[in-house]
Amino acid sequence: MTTPSRLRIAGGTVYDPANGVDGAVQDVCIEGDRIVAELPAGVPRLDVRGMVVMPGGVDIHAHVAGSSVNHARRLLPEEHAADPVPAPPLADGAPARSGTGGTVPSTFATGYRYAGLGYTTAMEAAVAPLAARHAHAELDDTPIIDSGFYVLLGNDDYLLRQIAAGETARARDYAGWLLGVTRAYAIKIVNPGGVTVWKGGGRNVSGLDDVVGSSAVTPRKILETLAGAANGLALPHPVHIHCNNLGQPGNSATTLESMRALAGRRAHFTHLQFHSYGGERGKGWKSAARDVIDYVNGHAELSVDVGQVMFGSATTVTADGPVEHLLYASSGRKWVNVDIELETGCGIVPYAYREQAAVAALQWAVGLELFLLAKDPWRVVLSTDHPNGGTFLSYPELIRLLMDRAYRDERLKAVNQKLLAGSALLDGLAREYTLGEIAIVTRAGPARLLGLPQKGHLGPGADADVTVYAPDADRAKMFAAPRYVIKGGTVVVQDGQLRRASAGARLAVRPDYDVAVKKDVKRFFDDYATVAFENYGAEP
Ligand SMILES: [Zn+2]
Repeated sequence: MTTPSRLRIAGGTVYDPANGVDGAVQDVCIEGDRIVAELPAGVPRLDVRGMVVMPGGVDIHAHVAGSSVNHARRLLPEEHAADPVPAPPLADGAPARSGTGGTVPSTFATGYRYAGLGYTTAMEAAVAPLAARHAHAELDDTPIIDSGFYVLLGNDDYLLRQIAAGETARARDYAGWLLGVTRAYAIKIVNPGGVTVWKGGGRNVSGLDDVVGSSAVTPRKILETLAGAANGLALPHPVHIHCNNLGQPGNSATTLESMRALAGRRAHFTHLQFHSYGGERGKGWKSAARDVIDYVNGHAELSVDVGQVMFGSATTVTADGPVEHLLYASSGRKWVNVDIELETGCGIVPYAYREQAAVAALQWAVGLELFLLAKDPWRVVLSTDHPNGGTFLSYPELIRLLMDRAYRDERLKAVNQKLLAGSALLDGLAREYTLGEIAIVTRAGPARLLGLPQKGHLGPGADADVTVYAPDADRAKMFAAPRYVIKGGTVVVQDGQLRRASAGARLAVRPDYDVAVKKDVKRFFDDYATVAFENYGAEP
């Protein structure tokens, strides 16, 4: 038996909010792939005096793997040419891969670049069940980071039939079966009912009580059923919701109505920025961030990620087909729209957010308002909905906007002011995030919301995922290039260079459910699906 490797990360200024450590000078001890309380004297040391030590970053919502992401890669050959990623020379001589970057990096580049930012865990936010095997294959090819995905439910034919028939228990068992057979981590809902209506030739749904086929099926019923299923199956992460009416002026009413519909039930509302607009369709936009975040602040059972818009290139990738049709029609850009039989939709439009564009400036401001008005950073965590609002490579710049008011105010002056009337940003929001709060919104908070007790902290038993930053008054510079990144006890990044690229682990759930549901689902497959029940899913 070999002795597990040991390392003392010595003398750093540690931010470990889950364990109440906020800038204390102390050592972090690693044995094998775990954090331990202490190590004997004489073990190898990494001297990090004067540096900032945090747990590895955890991204709760990004689009990094699977058939939708791969469609986006194919749509963007110009990005491949503009941003080649040569294979990095690894210290242990292990093979590395070349790839391409841009807004939708290739699998290997995705793993290398996340690690290069100090992130060690990322969750792929939307996978159609039919594409689960593809998503696993891509995640297998995404090195270093631990990963999992959320499986799309809420526009799938079998589920909607159960809701129409009042079969709530069977809907829950179906969700349990589907999570297990696709090796997913959580339930994702995208525009409940709206994608189904769009696929059937309609425009979309407009609110929570629109009828979706059967009069018994509404967006409200879908939300209630799946929130109940996630809680009934005791999933570590609650239902992950992309509300109806994404990107529409006035959609804050729908967002608040969706939150009220789940009153008292645990739920995560994703990329809240895209759902926090006031105004009216055809009659202009304004910020409704204050109303929405006030509601979140007052409801401890709710959590959100922000989905910040960052200026520059982005690629919008979503199961929300009707939204992408609107974006394609208004932008005139190239696009993809896919019907995934019986299950969901998919739309992709490359996009650019410009400081001088009024709507983009409003979106940027709304995201910052949500961050700056949030009372509990544990429940309002950082995302750009990569690559929808901007790529994950823009996180350091976003951290600077949160930590540095003078810089934020300077940027605010440079953006189009047309739609900013009423924005709390113009009232001179003085808040500056502390390093401890950044540690919450980028690692401790997401880990807790995901129900990952071994992630996002540096207490004994935690995964030995640690990031060390050299302090810099320019926080964007500081967070863009960690001095060391340690994943599972191994130094993977040193002085900005990728040194090692081990495989990451897969995060998946296997909930208990009544297996009687399988017989019924099989009958449905025999009647309607082009894929055989036996060939479905992504079990090894
Ligand atoms: Zn997303």
